[in-house]
Amino acid sequence: MDIIEIELKKSMEEEGCPICRLVEKFEKEEIETILYEHPNDPEVRKAFQKSLGLCPRHAWKTLKLALSNPLLGPHGISVIYEDVLKWYLKGGQSTEECFLCKLSSEKEETLLESFSERLPSLIESYEKSPSILCRRHYEEILNRISDEKLKEKLSQIQRRKLERLLKRLESFVDTFDYRVERRPSEKERRALAETIEFFSGREVGPECRERRREKKWPLKLR
Ligand SMILES: [Zn+2]
Ligand SMILES: [Zn+2]
Repeated sequence: MDIIEIELKKSMEEEGCPICRLVEKFEKEEIETILYEHPNDPEVRKAFQKSLGLCPRHAWKTLKLALSNPLLGPHGISVIYEDVLKWYLKGGQSTEECFLCKLSSEKEETLLESFSERLPSLIESYEKSPSILCRRHYEEILNRISDEKLKEKLSQIQRRKLERLLKRLESFVDTFDYRVERRPSEKERRALAETIEFFSGREVGPECRERRREKKWPLKLR
């Protein structure tokens, strides 16, 4: 078992999509590294300049992370944005997509490849685990598998997981019936968030995959 396999198995131990969870962890670590170590790094500054301060998702995520961590605080991120604003006022333009989008797409790609390649040895752990691959990542993995039997097995497991999720969601909804005199269990309560995560994934990766393709760079400030 290699490190990636261990990492993938570990992220299956919790509810939700294991791929999304690992991309999320990666993004968090990237942002923390930038804020901890590199706010004055010319390379980091250039990267922020090129996309005029990150896409909305990553920009707000970065600020939230900085403010929620007392070791970080707003200083590092302010220094970076001070530089971006100066650059913009001098006529700087956005020429590239957000670099965190780029990095997290690459990470996601590597994880999907690794998951698909190692599926024969991961599939049993996946079956037993409480995790459910989100719809998009499930489809991406399915597309990468050429072994028909393995494909079939994965789709059966996925279906059973979703059927169990539906049961939990149904009994959660039932608890709202005034005739039902019991409070929802923790598992039932979690069913809603898990269902949303299945359809939409976690808030990670590129801001909006569709919009990215037809993006027009903003006009220069006059
Ligand atoms: Zn996912
Ligand atoms: Zn981004």
